[in-house]
Amino acid sequence: MEQKQFQAESKRMLDLMIHSIYTHKEIFLRELISNASDAIDKLYFRSLTDEQVGIARDEFHIELKPDKDARTLTIIDNGIGMTAEELEQNLGVIAHSGSRVFKSENTLDDNTDIIGQFGVGFYSAFMVAKTVTVRTKAYGSDTAYEWRSEGVEGYTIDTCDKTSVGTEIILTLLDDTDDEKYSDFLEEYRLRSLVKKYSDYIRFPICMEVTHEHLKEGTEDEYESHTELETLNSRTPIWKKNKNELTDDDYNQFYREKFFDYTKPLLHIHSRSEGMVTYNSLLYIPAKAPYDYYTKEFEKGLQLYASGVMIMEKCADLLPDHFSFVRGIIDSEDLSLNISREMLQHDRQLKLIAKAVEKSIKNELTKLLNTNREQYVEFWKAFGIQLKFGVYNGFGVNKDQLQDLLLFHSSAAEEPDQFTTLAEYVSRMREDQKYIYYVAGESVTRCAALPAAELVRDKGMEVLYLTENVDEFALKMIASYQDKEFKNVSAGDLGLESDEDKSALEEKNNAAKDLFEAMQQALDGKVKAVRLSSRLKNHAVCLTSDGQISLEMEKVLNAMPTNEKVQAERILELNPEHPIFETLQTLLQTDKDKLAQYTQLLYQQALLIEGMSIEDPVAFSKMICALMV
Ligand code: ADP
Repeated sequence: MEQKQFQAESKRMLDLMIHSIYTHKEIFLRELISNASDAIDKLYFRSLTDEQVGIARDEFHIELKPDKDARTLTIIDNGIGMTAEELEQNLGVIAHSGSRVFKSENTLDDNTDIIGQFGVGFYSAFMVAKTVTVRTKAYGSDTAYEWRSEGVEGYTIDTCDKTSVGTEIILTLLDDTDDEKYSDFLEEYRLRSLVKKYSDYIRFPICMEVTHEHLKEGTEDEYESHTELETLNSRTPIWKKNKNELTDDDYNQFYREKFFDYTKPLLHIHSRSEGMVTYNSLLYIPAKAPYDYYTKEFEKGLQLYASGVMIMEKCADLLPDHFSFVRGIIDSEDLSLNISREMLQHDRQLKLIAKAVEKSIKNELTKLLNTNREQYVEFWKAFGIQLKFGVYNGFGVNKDQLQDLLLFHSSAAEEPDQFTTLAEYVSRMREDQKYIYYVAGESVTRCAALPAAELVRDKGMEVLYLTENVDEFALKMIASYQDKEFKNVSAGDLGLESDEDKSALEEKNNAAKDLFEAMQQALDGKVKAVRLSSRLKNHAVCLTSDGQISLEMEKVLNAMPTNEKVQAERILELNPEHPIFETLQTLLQTDKDKLAQYTQLLYQQALLIEGMSIEDPVAFSKMICALMV
């Protein structure tokens, strides 16, 4: 019999498979089952219009036949089969579709990933088999053919005996090595679990003969065994079932099994889309962040299926970063099983799906926020920070989408866990209130205690308490909400005073110009200015900032290892009503040294109030003692 050569490209692909160092060789089974299912699809389709086919719908199936003695695994289908020409065409030449276009400059390493993630078809059999034999009889043909290959050397085609229509693929498994126990693929449990893992939702039954032992009737210790053909796949995936057939328990159990998360998910989103692109989706919002969620190791993504066949474990392109906590499945009939990662990234259908997924997650979260605040707070505690990063990242491209999902601590809260949305804040704003006020600090208690926050509260206005590092950056990105600007109570003009008050303060400031100059000099460039302020009610001093960087932002930015150090433009503000102001004015005339000392003390106090560290605690403490004795 004449040995035929593989076409050059096929040969390269084959070579790749044979020398694959890829650890997930197991996917060969998924590929062969998927081919079998396609072949059955074709004949099934035919049978709808052609009575000659003579196979009933429920007779279509795929069978796995492990044979330990012969060391073979056979995959049998009663699908459409192949003619001699088709054998030649399909298995001798690589189809020039998507992933099949292998560039010669591709190295083995680059390709191993593709092997793992995507269908590579029939040739993947060579990852586990030294000989592959295909026995097939096409529907409507009298002759059956056998295609046989031991790899790159080539293949043979010959006629053979086969009465039924369909295809058998016989794999003679490679010898076991230290690294790979190929004989595992003959074990019932292994085949079972592979079918469950990759092909559970194939429409046709995937069967295997299993042997059960049981007591012989009428005896007490004699066993007999019988074999039966068992179906290994469940066929209808939960996401393709009708919503009203399913209970919360069904959804939760599936979640647990699929994603190995034993905490009940917060909610699921189950939907089917038809239109620009057709797909089923089942998404979950977990109740807790996985242990690695806030680390670099965490990988976002949804499981991607093409017509019931899993093609990618974590498709990152389906989820925006701000919703990276979502887990779930997308199953689309519009995607090809053999699409490569590069192509997937540019796939129009996939982009449409990703857009729709994002929208539906947003809608669902909005709904939760409006209907079940308690649960939303639970969600917020687990993943809120991710949404805030989402607002901030990408120069705020997603801020409009996300701003209504944000929660904040606020002075309006009556209990620790009570949060407010921006919309709620605005709805409570006083008529004459110009700004949305906030203060940033380490904790709610600290924020609440800041003098400037007290003043705003005393005027009957609400203050947001920002306790996360990212908070203020996110608000800077949003800039204004419903035309109300955000205002840090520790920076700039709070807009709380009348014009008369303002000019009165300015007069006072001008009158004390000499004092402030002397104080600023005493602080030796640590502050940009000293001035009187209407921000203070009872306290004598506070530290505020001018410009874009607040004191809190300075803290955050300087804590990052990579950033250059930044400094907010610090302003030391004095309370004109506080007796210390008079003392200072007197000292300007009588004792400049003491004025300098007091200025230092006041500055250090202001730092402490802000939750910042003072430069020289020992000197500070000495100065206080000196005052006491
Ligand atoms: P793909 O399935 O992506 O086209 P494969 O390399 O897996 O690529 O298979 C090549 C072709 O061989 C298939 O398109 C199909 O026409 C044919 N083929 C493979 N397996 C079978 C089978 N079990 N029955 C009938 N035809 C098959």
